[in-house]
Amino acid sequence: MHWRGRRGSQNVEDRRGMGGRGVAIGGVGGIIVLLLIIVMGGDPSAVLNPGNTSITNSGATTAAQDDAYKFVSVVLADTEDVWRQQFREMGRTYNEPKLVLFSGYVQTGCGTASSDVGPFYCSNDETVYIDTSFFTQLSKRFGAPGDFAQAYVIAHEVGHHVQNLLGILDAVHAKQQRVGQSEANELSVRLELQADFLAGVWAHYADKTLNVLDPGDLEEALAAATAIGDDKLQQEAQGRVVPDTFTHGTSAQRTRWFKLGYDTGDVQRGDTFNTSRL
Ligand SMILES: [Zn+2]
Repeated sequence: MHWRGRRGSQNVEDRRGMGGRGVAIGGVGGIIVLLLIIVMGGDPSAVLNPGNTSITNSGATTAAQDDAYKFVSVVLADTEDVWRQQFREMGRTYNEPKLVLFSGYVQTGCGTASSDVGPFYCSNDETVYIDTSFFTQLSKRFGAPGDFAQAYVIAHEVGHHVQNLLGILDAVHAKQQRVGQSEANELSVRLELQADFLAGVWAHYADKTLNVLDPGDLEEALAAATAIGDDKLQQEAQGRVVPDTFTHGTSAQRTRWFKLGYDTGDVQRGDTFNTSRL
C-alpha cells in the first residue's frame, strides 16, 4: 500500500505509554457500555473486566511505534478526504472522528477499555480506539499481515462513525433494546457488515484518487475480513460454529460486503438492513 509522503490527520491522539488502571465497569453499566461500543472482532468481555489484564508499557516510543503512528494518521486522513466528499454528495457535512492510539488501558466516553477488546469505536465521544499491538496480532494470530489489512481495520471503525453520523447506530441500538437476544445479534451482524461495506467504499475512492493499492493489497484486506469473521473466531475459540451468537457476520459475508463496497463505490448499495441475502 502506498502511504508515505501523504498528509497525516490532525485527529490522532497518541496515548500510548499513558495507560493507567481505570475504574472497573460491571453490571448494568457494563452492559450499556457494550451497547455503545462497536468492536472489530475482539473480546468484548475485556471492556467489562479491565482489571484482569496487567499493564505493560515500555514508556519509550520506538521507531516502529512512530511509523505506526504515521501510518494510522495517513489512513485516517484518507478516510477524511473520502467521507468529506461522499457526505458533500449526500448534502451533509462530515464531522471528522478522533482516533486514539493506546497501550494497556484507555479511558473512553464509553468507559474504560483494555487492549484485549481490539479496535473499537465509541459513539459517545466519536472516537476510534486502537492499540497498535492489534496489528501484530492481526498478522500473527489471524494470519492477515500487510499494511492494507491494517488500513481496512481503521476504515471499518470509521465506517461505524459514518453509521453514527447517519443516525444508523442510534436506530439500531434502540431497536436492539426492544428485541430478543437472537434478533439483537442479527442486527449487530447487519451493522458490522455495513461497516465492512463502508470500508470497501473507502478503498474504492482511496484507490481511485490516491492510487493507494499495490497488487495483492485487496487480497490482504479480504484475508483480514476472512480472518476475523465470527465463524472463524468461534471455530478457533470453541471448535464449533454457533450462528445464533454471531455478531459480526461470517468470513464469507464480511468479504462479500467489503468487495461490494470496493467494486461499486456506491453508498446506496450498502443497505444491509433491508436485504434477504447477507
Ligand atoms: Zn465493527
